Amino acid sequence: MMIVMTEDATDEQIAEVSALIEGTGAQVHISRGEMLTVIGAIGDGEHDSRVAGLGLEQLASVDRVVPIAKQYKLSSRQIRGGEDSIFDIGGAKIGGGNFSLIAGPCTVESREQLLTAGEAVRAGGASMLRGGAYKPRTSPYSFQGLGKEGLALLAEAKVETGLPIVTEVMDARDIEDVLEVADVIQIGARNMQNYPLLAELGRAGRPVVIKRGLSATLEELLMAAEYVLKEGNESVILCERGIRTFETAYRFTLDLMAVPVLKEMTHLPVIVDPSHAAGRRDLVEPLSLAAAAVGADGIIVEVHPDPQNAVCDGPQQIETTDFADYAAKVAAAAALAGKTLADQPQRA
Ligand code: PEP
Ligand code: MN
Repeated sequence: MMIVMTEDATDEQIAEVSALIEGTGAQVHISRGEMLTVIGAIGDGEHDSRVAGLGLEQLASVDRVVPIAKQYKLSSRQIRGGEDSIFDIGGAKIGGGNFSLIAGPCTVESREQLLTAGEAVRAGGASMLRGGAYKPRTSPYSFQGLGKEGLALLAEAKVETGLPIVTEVMDARDIEDVLEVADVIQIGARNMQNYPLLAELGRAGRPVVIKRGLSATLEELLMAAEYVLKEGNESVILCERGIRTFETAYRFTLDLMAVPVLKEMTHLPVIVDPSHAAGRRDLVEPLSLAAAAVGADGIIVEVHPDPQNAVCDGPQQIETTDFADYAAKVAAAAALAGKTLADQPQRA
């Protein structure tokens, strides 16, 4: 259930309504928009009927009580009264009118590789730096990431470039280490339905980007977000990264329709990963332009100083020397959709 407060509802009245809802056993989630405060009463069907039984609509501070028909509740656009969520990640904004370029290598390989990529993406206008220290690889015989050594290099790159770090965690036992450096924790496509891991990250409180599973529906993606949001972590970013279809001519099928449809369903920012969808460098730019044009809130793209010799995903990584030109074109496409490149945080 969603309790929409009147425009002039006071903090005391909001607290009073919250306490009544808590008395039913439902979880309270307060969302303060520019004009209105919406109180979400989150629980199962039984909670809903108990909240309905409170007769909250009779209070002077309550404008209306609306049931949330969808399975996903905290991620629904409705709960924020139609407003977009905007997160400030170490000075880099994501969501709303901001277009975020998140760029960097697939995996952290060395100090030189990471810092070269980091400086290039900063110079090209990226507002965050990506790079995996723990890699989900299809084969257990492939390189699995540098682990803690990779995290230490990311910490160094964060200081050098001033860019917030986006990096993946695959195992809840690594969360503590990853929290030392990550500004945004990435949940890979293969872990989208790892519910205990999602809940753990909900409790960790750090912003999370959840990549859509290879065969997940949009509703399943939103339910994954719900696992994080339910624990009180409000900062969830969704990422379309290509899904499995019958087509074999490219690695995955980038489902760009997911962008406007998700934006209709949810208040959370939606970004696109053209690199993993395509698997091929030549497709990355056209897919990025298309993603920006359909209204994505940003792009997460792989960039490497020497893709020919990259440890993983070489064929899809764009060269650092090509990044600035690529970024300018993507920014122009984002402008068509009414978004401007997110400001970069100041360097310390
Ligand atoms: C990645 O971003 O490095 C990655 C492995 O992506 P995905 O989980 O989408 O395959
Ligand atoms: Mn990769």
